[in-house]
Amino acid sequence: MKNKINKFEELVASFQKLPGVGKKSALKFAYHVSLVDSFSGLNLAHNIEDAISSIKRCSKCGALSENEICDICIDENRDKDILCIVENPKDILILEESGSYEGLYFVFDDISEEFIQKLQDFILYNKTKEVIFAFTPSINSDGVILYIEDKLKHLDVNLTKIAQGVPTGVSLDNIDIISLNNAIKYRIKV
Ligand SMILES: [Zn+2]
Repeated sequence: MKNKINKFEELVASFQKLPGVGKKSALKFAYHVSLVDSFSGLNLAHNIEDAISSIKRCSKCGALSENEICDICIDENRDKDILCIVENPKDILILEESGSYEGLYFVFDDISEEFIQKLQDFILYNKTKEVIFAFTPSINSDGVILYIEDKLKHLDVNLTKIAQGVPTGVSLDNIDIISLNNAIKYRIKV
């Protein structure tokens, strides 16, 4: 008879539903949290529940927040002249981690009148002077940028997008041709 460990198998299946987690990793995680370090397992379960019940999207910019309005939107010290449009709330965490940006953010949802209206209100409210598009370079994102650009053209605001090029520590033969072309096109003086 086959050894039935339904609860364990359900746990493995749950891990396997996470992005980037295959069967092997799912098994490893399930084994670890249920047997090797059950304290961490309980802690993980608690943190997941806590995060799900307390994290929402900022009603102004769309960032992850525990409150109606996020800490970045209410921070008087942020540079309100610049607004960075990102594709995903996760991207804000990455940019904040880098410490290279002091302005406000706005999360792109989808191409809709509602999104454009919200973005426009945000720009007018903050008296934004420059909008930076921090999208993953692709033909699709270029199309989105063109669309938003067109919708904002009546506003007195500069539109820029993040520079593309050669990532640090990556050799030239490992770079895709579009990035390499852009790296040459947007070269800087040494
Ligand atoms: Zn916000």
